[in-house]
Amino acid sequence: MQDTHRNKGLRQKLVNELRAKGITDEQILNAFRDIPRHYFLDKTFADWAYKDVAFPIDADQTISQPYTVAIQTALLQVKKKDKILEIGTGSGFQACVLAYLGAKVYTIERQKKLFDKTEKFLHEIGFGSVRTLYGDGYEGSPRFAPFDKILLTAAADQIPDKLIQQLKPGGILVVPLGGGDVQKMLRITKKEDGTLSSESFGNYSFVPFLRGVQG
Ligand code: SAH
Repeated sequence: MQDTHRNKGLRQKLVNELRAKGITDEQILNAFRDIPRHYFLDKTFADWAYKDVAFPIDADQTISQPYTVAIQTALLQVKKKDKILEIGTGSGFQACVLAYLGAKVYTIERQKKLFDKTEKFLHEIGFGSVRTLYGDGYEGSPRFAPFDKILLTAAADQIPDKLIQQLKPGGILVVPLGGGDVQKMLRITKKEDGTLSSESFGNYSFVPFLRGVQG
């Protein structure tokens, strides 16, 4: 893995593009400036890493579009030391963005092959602090709960109760909700008294949140 001058230049262009599209949080922009996103794609497709598009990775999955990663991250209002559960590890890029912001990150993947590959890769690129879990995200992680924030990076047709239960009072859950091709990006806040409030932030398209694991 090599991070060239050219790669850095392409990253700066991507940062400018994200800024132009309305991403204003400097720390999030710094994550895009500093994390070599081309490491997360197959070498043959390295040039695609810095275009603002979603891209296929292994096992019929996608690495989310940079803008979508930036929006989901912004909606989470990440603070240093936040304990965050991500559902859908995929390439590991989103998990690294959260770790870059100083969060303690736990991430769950249901596909064994992808899980093994990404776990090894995160150590190789210096993000071994991200705790990778193999399992079904519908179950969350009872072992490490409760969480300050929970982020779903696959489309859910309903919000699993177990995830709401694993959220701390005052916590935030971000989810692309909807069963069809298009989902609404929702931010659910669990108030101190346990009741929920919800805000909606436009339409996105994610791969489906599937039940059970795939060995
Ligand atoms: N966050 C990823 C992109 C995720 S794509 C990144 O930054 O690259 C969605 C991922 O969710 C896929 O890898 C898919 O296998 C996974 N997924 C789908 N349903 C799941 C479930 N029930 N539990 C855990 N992971 C799931």
